[in-house]
Amino acid sequence: MRISKRIENILGGEADGWGVFYKARAMKAAGEDVLELTIGEHDRKTDPAILRAMHESALSGNTGYAEVPGSAALRKAIARRVTARTGVQTESDNVIVTTGGQAGLFASHMAVCDTGDVALYLDPYYTTYPGTIRAAGANATPVPTRAENGFQPTKDDLESAPTGARSLLINSPNNPTGVVYAPDTLAMIADFVTTRDMWLISDEVYDTQIWQGQHLSPRALPGMAARTLVIGSMSKSHAMTGSRIGWIIAPRDIVTHLINLSTCTTYGVPGFIQDAALFALNAGDTLERDVSEVFARRRRLGQKILAGANALSLVPSSGAMYLMLDIRATGLSGEDFAYRLLEAERIAVMPGESFGHAAAGHVRVAMTVEDRRFADALKRLADFAAGLAG
Ligand code: PMP
Repeated sequence: MRISKRIENILGGEADGWGVFYKARAMKAAGEDVLELTIGEHDRKTDPAILRAMHESALSGNTGYAEVPGSAALRKAIARRVTARTGVQTESDNVIVTTGGQAGLFASHMAVCDTGDVALYLDPYYTTYPGTIRAAGANATPVPTRAENGFQPTKDDLESAPTGARSLLINSPNNPTGVVYAPDTLAMIADFVTTRDMWLISDEVYDTQIWQGQHLSPRALPGMAARTLVIGSMSKSHAMTGSRIGWIIAPRDIVTHLINLSTCTTYGVPGFIQDAALFALNAGDTLERDVSEVFARRRRLGQKILAGANALSLVPSSGAMYLMLDIRATGLSGEDFAYRLLEAERIAVMPGESFGHAAAGHVRVAMTVEDRRFADALKRLADFAAGLAG
């Protein structure tokens, strides 16, 4: 029997660069002591107070079908949060609650792209981007940014993209690079999408992980609220990755269509998860700060350890839970470096190539193990690189 081209084509037939990750998992399963600095999963669990709120909600009977767009209380809390953090007046009907940021990325492309439309995304990118766009039926087209510009997109980078595209997907703070787009960069992006009459899809799931400077949502720039869809999530801000809860902020009419899509796909997010999210959002800044500050600390540690390294350099970054290392001085590809590091040191990092061609010759290190082991791993990684280069 024939299956659909759309589903067959999700991975686009390209090597996805996840071989190192699976090899590390297999080594661990075989009992080897492998240190994983691969995926963006915190080394702490969801706070027990949030879990208690979830438990109480479920026990009190909130286990039936939930409201598809999200509960009135949660949509209001999200709208209030977005208004406070971005300065853009946001109402409940600008909000739809989704099963994580990932479902938001898919739904947003479904909302603004027709089958075959060109949907742009900046490279390096979060691994699911091209597949998500293809799953929505659009033509996923990368726009490379460059290491020599610190992976900040330039006007020339954007102008080189094909004309006629429907949307541009951006991500700041960025996974994998940790780069936070400067206000000038965001203004230039806003100008670009406005001139070409495109939608902007702004993935801001790392907006609580800013270590230097400030988060600026491009939706706050003049005229942009009408053409911007913002992806938010509780995964990174509250260590709730497994709860699968996030949102899209969009113009009202888009939200109406997104509710129709949600009705025909997920039928909303479980009510007890929504209540837990509402509790977490109302719990104030301390809990969020607790979740994030470890990465600020480990980033400082990383900067110190790598400052003297001669065979690798740290991409200048200001956010997110990753460090991106330029290892081109070793003469290896990111993938070869990662495989050899795994073999020699039992340390697993992600090859830059897993995140697009623009990140070739780099590796991404997730700052997701406790400080001492993290520091030790970085020293060994730097020594390993020096050995290769020397
Ligand atoms: N966007 C980016 C940039 C991410 O790194 C991730 C998860 N790693 C997501 C979206 C999806 O997050 P979630 O679905 O858990 O909210």
